[in-house]
Amino acid sequence: MYNYTKQYINGEWIASTGEETIDVYNPATEEKIGAISSGTEDDLNKAVAAARAAFPDYAKTTREERIQLLENIATEYEKRKDKLINIMIEELGSPLFFTEEVQYTMGYNHFKATADALRNFEFTEDRENSFIQKDAIGVAGLITPWNFPTNQISTKLASALASGSTVVFKPASYTPFASILLTEIMDAAGVPKGVVNLVNGKGSTIGNGISNHPDIDFVSFTGSGKVGSQIMQNGAKDIKKVALELGGKSPIVVLDDADVETVARTAISNIASNTGQICSTGTRIFIPKGMYQSFVDMVQKLVPEYPVGDPKDENTFMGPQVSKDQWEKVQDYIQQGIDQGGDLIVGGAGKPEGLTTGYYSRITMFGNLPHDGALAQEEIFGPVMTVFTYETIDEAITLANTTIYGLAGYVVGNDPDNLRKVAKNIRAGRITINNAAPDFSAPFGGFKQSGIGREWGDYGIEEFLEPKTILGLPK
Ligand code: NAP
Repeated sequence: MYNYTKQYINGEWIASTGEETIDVYNPATEEKIGAISSGTEDDLNKAVAAARAAFPDYAKTTREERIQLLENIATEYEKRKDKLINIMIEELGSPLFFTEEVQYTMGYNHFKATADALRNFEFTEDRENSFIQKDAIGVAGLITPWNFPTNQISTKLASALASGSTVVFKPASYTPFASILLTEIMDAAGVPKGVVNLVNGKGSTIGNGISNHPDIDFVSFTGSGKVGSQIMQNGAKDIKKVALELGGKSPIVVLDDADVETVARTAISNIASNTGQICSTGTRIFIPKGMYQSFVDMVQKLVPEYPVGDPKDENTFMGPQVSKDQWEKVQDYIQQGIDQGGDLIVGGAGKPEGLTTGYYSRITMFGNLPHDGALAQEEIFGPVMTVFTYETIDEAITLANTTIYGLAGYVVGNDPDNLRKVAKNIRAGRITINNAAPDFSAPFGGFKQSGIGREWGDYGIEEFLEPKTILGLPK
């Protein structure tokens, strides 16, 4: 049992001023694995006051000191590799291979990539008649979701620390333990008192309190559009800067010269990785009409190679949904697809055979559904893909862009001109051609309702800075 009912404020683990706690469950076993504090407004006020008090000194630290701090954090993070992996398997149900290769590694890469970005970052600039200086923004409130317990918070923490800003952060209540471990890492790495403060609690209390707090200068939020919109409205009251990393419904466009096995594997791994609970995953696939049947046959043949089950098993590709609520939401969408007469290519409603305990879904793909229906347009956040056919590349691009979202896009094929054409014309923040590896130095974020602002590397640091122009500065 993990009983972490203390808050980390001003460099100390202190008791919450409230008695209430929030239980945390393992989604693979449905058993309670621990509890966190359901923090109070009082806890939040103390954390904000600590971050405010720490800001003037921390903002004055040198670039070299902050690079060293990020390097120390990366070292302490590496030392706790097994603990971090085990905690994420338990609280999220993320399978062992994915937790090690993606969840754990992404968190580490953000600290290293941000330290690298900081080495070359231009904090000042001389222009003809002006001097431009980028100052740390102040106290930042960070709010994160459950689907990547260390990745989401690591990119925000790394950027904030690189900029000279101080922080109050609130992780998701489903997956708080990785963040608690990350806070221990900050402490061990020598983050000065008050620079990073952790307040666990409900979104409606602590999250809402952060976006309404008059002494927080900037809110960096990752989560749903519904909550993002609420945060923006709250922030508007005192003109608080807000950065939002929100949902997606990303397209995969397949060229007619693509290898059908590569296409089928790309489709399956997009929707099944992290049980479909990835904001940037491809969930709508556009296939040339003549390739549809061979794609369907290949998917049906390959799906058994992607086992669903116990996340601790090294052979498992897909674990459970994070919670019962999330499982019910996914089941509801699958039922809608069936009721609307979609062709069920693989999967379907209910749990996979033999998995009665745990919030397991089936890897599901539908063909023959309308472009404007719920399954084609709404973010499901589960292993459900809709498959469409197209006749011309221009038609595929238009269909790919017919969504309120613009977080990511994918292209699979060979012809360089067509790969370029599709990649350059999808309206989204990140396009991946032929499963290219991620680049942690490049910006991440969304067009349209997928968000405002960018994270990762130098673009991430930029979000936590305010440019100041000085005219007539004595040379
Ligand atoms: P969510 O319900 O919006 O929750 C996100 C965070 O906000 C949690 O910490 C939550 O706390 C907190 N929260 C809830 N209500 C709040 C309020 N009124 N004010 C302030 N904070 C509040 O999202 P989720 O279900 O955790 O995550 C899934 C969503 O995140 C999906 O839409 C996904 O696409 C998006 N996402 C986007 C990115 C990206 O980079 N663009 C990355 C990952 C996920 P509690 O946990 O205590 O409720």
